[in-house]
Amino acid sequence: MIPIIDSKRQYAQIAEEAEKEVLDVMRSGQYILGRHNKAFEEEISNFLNVKYAVCLNSGTDALHLALRALNIGEGDEVITVAFTFVATTEAIGIVGATPVFVDIDENTFNIDANKIEEKITPRTKAILPVHLYGQPCEMDKIMEIARKHNLYVIEDCCQAIGASYKGQKVGTFGDIGCYSFYPTKNLGTMGDGGLAITNNENLKNRIIALRNHGGAIRYHHDEIGVNSRLDEIQAAILRVKLPYVNEWNKLRREHAAYYNELFRNAEDIKTPVELDNSYCVYHQYTIKVQNRDEVHKMLQERGIGAMIYYPIPLHLQKVHSYLGFTEGYLPNTEKNTKMVMSLPMFAEITKEEQQTVAKTVIDCVKEANLAIV
Ligand SMILES: *Cc1c(COP(=O)(O)O)cnc(C)c1O
Repeated sequence: MIPIIDSKRQYAQIAEEAEKEVLDVMRSGQYILGRHNKAFEEEISNFLNVKYAVCLNSGTDALHLALRALNIGEGDEVITVAFTFVATTEAIGIVGATPVFVDIDENTFNIDANKIEEKITPRTKAILPVHLYGQPCEMDKIMEIARKHNLYVIEDCCQAIGASYKGQKVGTFGDIGCYSFYPTKNLGTMGDGGLAITNNENLKNRIIALRNHGGAIRYHHDEIGVNSRLDEIQAAILRVKLPYVNEWNKLRREHAAYYNELFRNAEDIKTPVELDNSYCVYHQYTIKVQNRDEVHKMLQERGIGAMIYYPIPLHLQKVHSYLGFTEGYLPNTEKNTKMVMSLPMFAEITKEEQQTVAKTVIDCVKEANLAIV
């Protein structure tokens, strides 16, 4: 069995350090918003090259509180994609705003920047691009449109920590960048965690207040907030892991290149495209194949932990049925939804495992095509 990700292998590398730090937190009696939160916010600001970072409870909260901080709510529209994890549009719904879907570029899996402007209305407040699978969106085009139409930009970087576009880290182009530390992300903790980053001091202060019941001063509450603090134990673990992230991302890129090589002669398998000037961190290595569901089933039977991210595009999910979209509205999104398949990808995967994965995928694609034709 070759899993999509094996968190235990990563744990083995950091176990000694992490166990010491967690024990230290437990003995310290300081469990919430303590020294590790403060230090991690500083360390990750340096890592991402941004002025401010605010630790939160999840990536979902980072998105939701980013929208709140920008006063986006009832009656407002936010332009985003349907080819993403549901948390992206859930956050828009939580604040009472409406997601407006733009189709993706079928090669990059990300928002098609050329199709954004046609979706702008007087109600549009923000663009929310998602750097899916660790691949940066075309941020120069997106920022140009945002400036021209006076829109905010919130970047969903939950799958893309360490990724950069033209040498600049994702999350630092727009007004607020949102990150997740869910265990399987490129920087994952051992529970839930998230982060909002910004270069704007007012936005930083607003998010700090919102995460702790809507007040900057204890027991002084200015507005309805939430409890979205990051536990000290999680912050301590993240501090142990952060220094490894560049190396882990580098390994992911090497593994992606090796998969590309292994699939080079397989005409029926479309390997991921990486844009020029961008540093993709391969949160997922996602191929496209015909007869995807058959291939996926065969792979599972043969012990290859391939996964479908995501099997139903968001505009066709029940949660958004009130918007009234039907099949055909987003052709590239829908086509990709039926073809994508993510293969085992993590820093510690071995060349032998990758060879097994690639060979099995190539065999299964051939067999599925024969069976269907
Ligand atoms: C993981 C993820 C989120 C949500 O992060 P959580 O920490 O699980 O709340 C949001 N958007 C994308 C694209 C994600 O992959």
